[in-house]
Amino acid sequence: VRKIQRNGPQTPIEVEQPFALKAPRTDVMLVTPWLAPIIWEGSFDQKLLDATYKPLNFTIGMTLFAVAKYTRFLKPFLESAEKHFMQGYRVNYYIFTDIPEQVPRVELKPGRSVVVFNTVKYSRWQEISLRRMEIINKHIMNKSIREVDYLYCLDVDLIFTNHYGAETFAPLVAVLHPGYFNILRNKFPYERRPESQAYVPKDHGHFYYIAAMFGGTLNNIVDVTAACHQALQVDKVNGIEAAWQEESHLNKYLVTNMPHKILSMEYLCNSEAPTPASVKVCRFSTVKKNHAEIRAQ
Ligand code: UDP
Ligand code: MN
Repeated sequence: VRKIQRNGPQTPIEVEQPFALKAPRTDVMLVTPWLAPIIWEGSFDQKLLDATYKPLNFTIGMTLFAVAKYTRFLKPFLESAEKHFMQGYRVNYYIFTDIPEQVPRVELKPGRSVVVFNTVKYSRWQEISLRRMEIINKHIMNKSIREVDYLYCLDVDLIFTNHYGAETFAPLVAVLHPGYFNILRNKFPYERRPESQAYVPKDHGHFYYIAAMFGGTLNNIVDVTAACHQALQVDKVNGIEAAWQEESHLNKYLVTNMPHKILSMEYLCNSEAPTPASVKVCRFSTVKKNHAEIRAQ
């Protein structure tokens, strides 16, 4: 990763004055106990961030799996990303599919491109989902994904519905799960069997993160995917599958490797549940799907 030489625009720009004694929001947590910011509408100045980061000419990578029937999500996903995701930055979409001819041709803005990789279709949907850790790791290690400043690993059954940009840049970033942001940690759906590598005791952990999106620099993504892949393999040898597959392992990893930045539920809205009052804008939303119909049998 390129060294960031400065933290601010080259020439001063007009921004609203921040006051040390005035919290931009008082209804939500803006910083974790380990001093990682939590990103909410109203907590950042998009103009200031873009004036800082756009001159650095970053390339943002994104991994996207569309295996079997999930290729149908690609078109709405990509079209919405072209409208809202990292506008003004270079973007490489890395699409993994078993049906390359079903990757739609979507008009891309300058500096943005699609790279298609062939991948096998595992028979169980759980396996398709959890194998992403191994596949992402291998593609970084063999250098077929390189020269990106930040990599985002996303589910495909989602659409962008609002601005999603530089405020999410961090060495390692994770998103609050929209279903578990306001419950006691002993109720988090962590894996609770000590026999699994994903085991988290009832009195451990901070936040429950959703596996539909994690991101960061390549070094950090290599580490998190390697750790999850290895843990998944050990579980497999021991004949145990964690409650929520790779999400359980991701959460276990993040208990001790805390993210440098956390995205609020704005960055993963559940379109099938009421929007929490704290969410002023949904930026990335789930697409309704019929699980029984769409999942590989
Ligand atoms: N996936 C896929 N084909 C499948 C099952 C899963 O491509 O048959 C990929 C796809 O990227 C999907 C992700 O794995 O978004 C996670 O699966 P899913 O979205 O079904 O899990 P959920 O979000 O419902 O927990
Ligand atoms: Mn999903």
